Amino acid sequence: MLLPERPTTPALLDRFGRLHDYLRVSVTDRCNFRCVYCLPEDGTTWLPRDGVLHYEEIVRVVRVLAPMGLRRVRLTGGEPTIRRDIEALVAGIAAVPGITDLTMTTNAHRFATQAAALKTAGLRRVNISIDSLDPARFAAITRGGDLHAVLAGIDAAVDAGLLPVKLNMVVMGGQNDDEVVSMARWALERAPAVQLRFIEYMPFDQRLHAGVPAAELRRRLEEAFGALVPVRERQGGGPATHWQLDPLVVGFIAPITEHFCASCNRLRLLADGHLRTCLAHEDTPSLRDVLRAGTSDDELGTLLRKIVRGKPAGHQAELDGGTAFEGVMTQIGG
Ligand code: SAM
Ligand code: SF4
Repeated sequence: MLLPERPTTPALLDRFGRLHDYLRVSVTDRCNFRCVYCLPEDGTTWLPRDGVLHYEEIVRVVRVLAPMGLRRVRLTGGEPTIRRDIEALVAGIAAVPGITDLTMTTNAHRFATQAAALKTAGLRRVNISIDSLDPARFAAITRGGDLHAVLAGIDAAVDAGLLPVKLNMVVMGGQNDDEVVSMARWALERAPAVQLRFIEYMPFDQRLHAGVPAAELRRRLEEAFGALVPVRERQGGGPATHWQLDPLVVGFIAPITEHFCASCNRLRLLADGHLRTCLAHEDTPSLRDVLRAGTSDDELGTLLRKIVRGKPAGHQAELDGGTAFEGVMTQIGG
């Protein structure tokens, strides 16, 4: 029997004409680090195991979204590499027709032993968080992370061909902003296999750290290296603006000082199954309950379309005022 074809026209358009072809999936809210900008020192209240989406449930959401226009998926967390048999999830998503890009954001603490298997399973590229090149400061920011393990993880990602490896640095005034130039010098030696991106600190609930505007970081880099040349071609599916510091590509993700809400193409599947259309807003029902209530793929597709149509225009967070982001970063996935 022939099954009815799913619509091939993009259905993931919202009221503002934004097409959503990119899904970030937080595969676990747990983490082996406790980064100061992300988690409280004593952790948080972890979701019970059954409160987290199962792999089959995540793959099903991707399978229903793909014919509606989804093309790229990023696995994040919490720390995705600590969820058991993460390669199985990678392989499951990589096999969904229409998904052309499958990536991961990781702290890379375990990556030295995992990179090759993840590549074989279907992972294309990886973003690795690294906020300092000083072992003691790195341990302080991550509350216990081992810089050398992460550096070995970066090497393994390059060796496995997960290229370019994008290094993410969250910049905090008075904590690691004095390393912006030295981080760029270090990355330059490894370019073009690595790229470097500076991320503005986003305040969650409490405003614990000082953000540094991307424009100020560009100014400091230009002082050290001369003029940065804007990269015209679009790089990847994300919101970073890119500049060339030959042979290094430097990106800036500035959710606070350079809002990119107007071109936002992202959906976020949280560890507990909520689908967030905007990082800053807790605005949607739990897909987990819907998935576990025997809903058909057609009903799920209708619900997903409705959620996307209801996406808010943007957020109002500012460097030292405005609203803070709602929720827990490890559940949301960045
Ligand atoms: N554990 C993985 C990692 O650290 O790469 C993936 C999850 S982490 C939540 C995803 C990204 O969000 C990381 O690049 C991290 O640096 C960033 N992040 C976490 N909290 C942040 C905050 N308050 N402001 C800006 N970026 C943040
Ligand atoms: Fe863990 Fe990543 Fe958050 Fe750091 S940023 S605590 S590594 S989830």
